[in-house]
Order: sequence, then C-alpha cells, then structure tokens
Amino acid sequence: MKLTLHLTGRCDLDCDYCPADKSGGRMAEKTLYAACDFAFSIGKTAGLCFFGGEPLLEKELIYKAVERCEELSRRTGKPAEFRMTTNGTHLDTGFLSMAKSCGMVIGLSFDGLMQDVSRKRPDGSGTFDTVSSNAKLLISEMPESVAMMTVSPKAAGRYAESVRYIASLGFRNISATIAYGSRVRWTEKDISVLRAELEKIAEFCSAGIVHSPRPVMFAPLDCRIMGLIYGKNASSQCSFLSGQLTSDVNGDIYRCTQFIGDERHYLGNVFDGIDIKRQYDLMKQVRIPEQCISCDMRERCSNICGCNNRLETGDENKVSPLICTYERMLTEIADLTARKLCRDHREEFVRRYGAPIPGITE
Ligand code: SF4
Ligand code: SF4
Repeated sequence: MKLTLHLTGRCDLDCDYCPADKSGGRMAEKTLYAACDFAFSIGKTAGLCFFGGEPLLEKELIYKAVERCEELSRRTGKPAEFRMTTNGTHLDTGFLSMAKSCGMVIGLSFDGLMQDVSRKRPDGSGTFDTVSSNAKLLISEMPESVAMMTVSPKAAGRYAESVRYIASLGFRNISATIAYGSRVRWTEKDISVLRAELEKIAEFCSAGIVHSPRPVMFAPLDCRIMGLIYGKNASSQCSFLSGQLTSDVNGDIYRCTQFIGDERHYLGNVFDGIDIKRQYDLMKQVRIPEQCISCDMRERCSNICGCNNRLETGDENKVSPLICTYERMLTEIADLTARKLCRDHREEFVRRYGAPIPGITE
C-alpha cells in the first residue's frame, strides 16, 4: 500500500502561504520501521512518500526507511516505490545518488523567479540562490523530477516568467497550484493578473509542443486538455480513494495530510494496523460537493478532491468561490489553447496527447 510519512513537523523555511502546523516532533526509528512493515503488509506493492515539514531535515530516517524497504522487498517479492516532496534547501549529491539508485521520484517545491516573494527563511532572507542551484543539480541527476510551484497573489505577475525559467533549467514536469488558506487573500485584480499569466503560460507550452522535441508538461493545463480529449481530468482523483494513506510523526494514520489530527478521519496506527471497516465507511463519505453535482464542468474540474476546500472553507464538501473561479479559468484557457493547437498543428497535438480532440478536424 501507499503511505505518506510525516518524518518531522519541523521546517527550515517560513513560507508566507504555508498552512502547515510546524510544531510536531520527529518520527522515532521504531515508528519508521513499523510504518515500512505496514506499507508492505497490504497489497501487491509498497509505496512510501517522504513528507514533512521538511523531510530532508531527517535524511538519516530516509536512508533507514529505504534500506528497510529494500530488505522487505527482497523478502516478500513486492516492489517498493519511493517519492519525496522537498523544499530543496538540503539536497546534495550524496542524497541524490541514493535517490537515483532506489528510483525515488522527487517533487521540488520551487516557485522559480517568485521564490523570494514567499519562500523565505524565518529571518526573512530569501532562498532563491540556494534552491535554484540545487534545482540545477537535481535535474542534471534526475531529469524526470517534478517542479512544484505555488503562486501567491503577491507574486502572480511573475508566474509566466517563472515557468519559463524553471523550464530553462531543464524541468519537463511542472505542477502548480495557487496559494490557498487563511494566510492568503486574492483580490479581483490579482485574479485578473493570474488569468493573463496563465494565458502566457498556455502560449509558451503550445509553442513548445510545436517546436520542441521535449515539450514541458504543465499539469494544471495538461490535465484539463487530457480531460477534453478523454472525458476525465486525470488530476480529479482523491488520493484517499486511490489508496494513499498518511502517517503522522507518531505513526497515527489518517485519510490524508490535510486531515492529520482530525479524529473523524483517524484510521489506526502503523503498529496495530487500520480499521478496514472505518476506512471503507470514510471512503463512502467522500462525496462530490453539493454545489458541484449539477455543474457542467464536473468531469473537468480537479476540485473533486476536497483538500483545498478544507483549507479554504474548513469543510471538504464546501466549495470556495476562489477555487471555483480558478478551476473555471483553467478549463477555459486549456480548452481554447487545445482547440487552436489541435486545429492548426494536429500532428504535433496528437504526438503530445495521444489523440485529437473529438469533433475537431483540420
Ligand atoms: S517549505 Fe513547505 S512546510 Fe516549509 S514553510 Fe514552506 S510550505 Fe511550509
Ligand atoms: S468547483 Fe466549481 S467548477 Fe468545479 S465542479 Fe464544483 S462548481 Fe463546478
């Protein structure tokens, strides 16, 4: 089974949009090993995602977990998969060499040229120099790594040039979200800026599809374009429904990272296992927010997963106007871009997405 491990609650940064409670301690070795065993105890594969706080503050725990899982993999014949989300300040060649050898997929939280607006150290100093240098190291060693951007209202005007910058470093997989939660406030003006920047990004990505042998995959638009072709947005699946659970630093298991500490979403612990009936009951409760049921965008929207709703409204089933506006904006831009590209550059479009948009002829 797939398990996200909160190795530590600590982080060396103080991003101004961060919703995390950074007061938690560190995962004990005993808990770490029990978590590895638990991941191997259910299903045909085992997957660990190292998470925090900042997981690289506990590098030794990651080495130990990988070692344990590789031993369990030899013993059980089940393959092990590893992922990690990091802010990149502590990446180094030694760690990357281990990550490469175990096939770890690394997601680097990096906002490109927007980095120093929000991603700062507690003393207020910026992290652009350190993280861009480590991003170059990461992509040279592990070219399939993902850059994960968060766009704050204060930095939205530099979004498009940040995507271009990250692409220029060699990243071909870029995911992005806007900043949500109580620490962030989007005005109408910020939303207009965001739209203009997304349009520039769509143009940049289209040009890449036509002219580059390795175009950038920009997830917010690409997932919706795939939805236009195949009928469903690839990012609409809630990770709980796809079998991913989360362990906090104490080994307590919850539905996902957003639900840590919420008793209603507690499922058990890595020592004694989970209550399967409770998991099943909770899965049945994952429902489409009422407001979305009759929405014509439902299959195209990635808001079926309620985590962002929870950040914005405190209730996973209550959609915030910001999220709805953003989702509609992305779908509109993706559709316009895709239809034009499919009409004018059908061959390149099909090479990129595997099929043309139904009903669009040259
Ligand atoms: S790096 Fe992540 S956990 Fe750390 S402050 Fe920033 S958003 Fe929060
Ligand atoms: S969040 Fe908004 S756009 Fe998305 S399905 Fe719900 S109502 Fe529709």
